[in-house]
Amino acid sequence: MPPNETKPGNHQPCQEHGLDEPDPLTSASSRLRSGILAADKAVFTAMESGIPNIAPKGTRAGDFSSVTYNNTDPDCWWSWNKCTTPKLAGLADDTTECPEANTWGLTLDDGPNCSHNAYYDYLLEQEQKATMFFIGSNVMDWPLEAQRTLGDGHEICVHSKQTSPCPPPPGRPRARGANSPLSLTRAAWSHPYMTALTNEQVFAELYFTKKAIHDITGVSVQCWRPPYGDIDDRVRFIATKLGLRTIGWDQDTNDWEHAELGIATVEANYNAIINKVANGSYATHGTIVLTHEIDNETMTLSEQFLPTIVEKFTGGVMPVGVCHNWTQPYGEGSEYVYPNYAQWVAGTHSISLAQPTAYSSEIPFATAAVVTSAGASGAAASATAAASGSGSSTKKASQATASASSAGASSAASPVATSSSTSAAVAAQAGGLMAVLAMVGAAVVAF
Ligand SMILES: [Zn+2]
Repeated sequence: MPPNETKPGNHQPCQEHGLDEPDPLTSASSRLRSGILAADKAVFTAMESGIPNIAPKGTRAGDFSSVTYNNTDPDCWWSWNKCTTPKLAGLADDTTECPEANTWGLTLDDGPNCSHNAYYDYLLEQEQKATMFFIGSNVMDWPLEAQRTLGDGHEICVHSKQTSPCPPPPGRPRARGANSPLSLTRAAWSHPYMTALTNEQVFAELYFTKKAIHDITGVSVQCWRPPYGDIDDRVRFIATKLGLRTIGWDQDTNDWEHAELGIATVEANYNAIINKVANGSYATHGTIVLTHEIDNETMTLSEQFLPTIVEKFTGGVMPVGVCHNWTQPYGEGSEYVYPNYAQWVAGTHSISLAQPTAYSSEIPFATAAVVTSAGASGAAASATAAASGSGSSTKKASQATASASSAGASSAASPVATSSSTSAAVAAQAGGLMAVLAMVGAAVVAF
C-alpha cells in the first residue's frame, strides 16, 4: 500500500501506486494479449443466430437524438422509460431492488480503482461487503486490487471493458484489447452505451471483461450492470447467453457527477435516499443504490455516509447477492459460498471457500481447480499474497473450511454456515439462480 493511503478518506491519485505489481500482460492475463482465440469466437458464433433482430440505437456516447422509437417500447429499453421487465420471452427481469424491508444493496461501479486500498481498509474495519462492478481494463491494469476485492469478501460483477482512466505505472505497458475478427479494438472499449453497439461489440464488452476477471481472480462472475443503465432485450439476450444476470438500481446518488454537481448536491442526494426510510418507502422491500469507487470524492462520500446508512436501514446494508440469497454467485459454485440474508443479519459477513486461494498464501492460485485453464502464474499468486498483507482477509480465507458453523454465528471471521440444515437451504438458493440461468439458455462459458 502506498504511504499516502494509510488513513481512511485519503485515496490519492493513481500515479502514486502500482510500482511493485506484476505486469498483468505477462502473467495471469497473457492470453488476452494474444488476441481472440478460436474458442472465444466460437462462443459468439454459437449464440449469434439467436440474437434478436433489434437495431443498435444512437451512439456509444449516448446520443439518441437520431433514434426513432416506438412508444410501446418493444425492446424494453431502459434508457427510454426505465423498463426492467423484458418483452422478449425467456429473459429474466433486471434486478433493481433488495427484497427485504429497509435493506440497502451496496454497489460500487467502475473499479477496481488503483487507489482504493484505504477505502477497502475502511470496509474491512466495518465488516462491510459490497457488490463491485468491474471494468475489464481496470482489472488488467490493477490486478492486485481486483484480487483484493475477492479476498476481502466482496462480490464481483461485470461492468464493461473500458480503457482505464488511470495511467499504468512507469515501465509497464497499458493493458490493451486485441485486434480481432470481432472488430474489437481497444479504442472501441470505452464504457459505452451498450444499446449503441453491434452484436459483436456487446459480446466483446461482456465476454472479455468476464474473462479478464476470471484470468486474474479465478472466478466466473454471473452478474453485470450496464454503463448508464443502458440496456434493451438484444443486450439482455447476449448477457444472458454469457450467464450474466442484469443488476440495475432504483436509487442514484449521482456521485460520479460530483465535479459538475458539487459535493453538497451529492450529499443531498445521499440524504434524500436515506430519508426515504422514515416515510416508509422501504417498508416492504429494500433498495439498490448506485455509487462509485471512481475517485477520492466518491469513496470518501461512501465512507462518510455508511454509518448513517447502517443506522437507518435496519434491514441491513449488504451486497446484492446476499440480499437475494444468491449464495454461490460464481460459476465455480460451492468453491465460493457467500452468506444468505438470514446469515448476514445474524452476523456472518465473510465468504466460505471450499479450498484456500492465493489469499491463503500457502497454495498458489494456479492449483485451484477453477483457474487451471486460465494460466494464472504462481508468481502472480505469490505477489498477491505478499502484497495483500495484513490488510486483507487472508486469515479468514485460510480459516474457511467445511466445518459447520451455525447461522447465528456472530463472528464476522466465521465461515458461512455449512451445517446440514443450512447447506440444504444454500443449495436450494443456488439452485434457484442456476435454474433461472438454465431457463434462459445461459451458456456455461469455459475460458
Ligand atoms: Zn460505470
